[in-house]
Amino acid sequence: MEEQLRQAQKMEAIGQLAGGVAHDFNNVLTVIAGYANILKMDLTSESAQYGLADQIAAAAERAAQLTRGLLAFSRKQAMSQQRCDLGDIVRRVQQFLGRVIGEDIQLKTEILPEPLPVQVDLAQIEQVLINLAANARDAMPGGGAITIATGLRDGTGHGHGEAAGPRAVIIVADTGEGMDEDTSRRIFEPFFTTKEVGKGTGLGMAIVYGIVQQHKGNIRVSSKPGEGTVFTIELPLIEGADALEPALASQPLPRHG
Ligand code: ADP
Repeated sequence: MEEQLRQAQKMEAIGQLAGGVAHDFNNVLTVIAGYANILKMDLTSESAQYGLADQIAAAAERAAQLTRGLLAFSRKQAMSQQRCDLGDIVRRVQQFLGRVIGEDIQLKTEILPEPLPVQVDLAQIEQVLINLAANARDAMPGGGAITIATGLRDGTGHGHGEAAGPRAVIIVADTGEGMDEDTSRRIFEPFFTTKEVGKGTGLGMAIVYGIVQQHKGNIRVSSKPGEGTVFTIELPLIEGADALEPALASQPLPRHG
């Protein structure tokens, strides 16, 4: 568990660092490109200074592309997929999530007895649950409860472009301060945060969204100010409960680099 927790914290730190640096760096680049373009306006296009200002603007644009790539990296990594039971994933995460959320917050799980076979990148799905739990914790400064539940949805009748076929469902609910509609709408935007400067990067939910998309799943949020928040994630269910990673929860944790 030690190693797993360290890895999760490392990923959170890398994400924060990469996201934070890229964000601030982008602001600097905007200033550089802006002034270079103002310089160009004051110069005739034949002058040597015009060419230099043009090169500054082009270099700033290349650097902006790099920071966009950095952001994409902090959200999307190569997938390494395993066939797992979603219930096993929750049982496994439960073992170290307590350390993430602290002692004032109760962690409850409601896991369907039958296996829910999904094909996922385990580390990424764990990252999703860690990010959701960390936000839930932040929304409950006076304590409260987080419930993680699994479920099954048959794939019929929902329409509106949603993928057909049965879906494995995972719900993360908290009893925290909740959000108004405006906030709920914006939470998946990179850099959207309501936390004070230095506390939030606004990347956690963007990362969650990116991972769920990569898994061909979908996520929605339902929240009421003062009452709490419920995130519902649906992932494609795969055929057959055989050949799943055996007893993930009791399996030794992989060693990451
Ligand atoms: P950060 O946590 O750095 O602010 P996130 O992308 O993880 O960035 O979250 C963005 C915003 O979404 C948060 O600042 C908060 O306003 C809101 N939010 C996310 N999860 C919850 C939750 N469970 N309860 C209340 N607000 C939440």
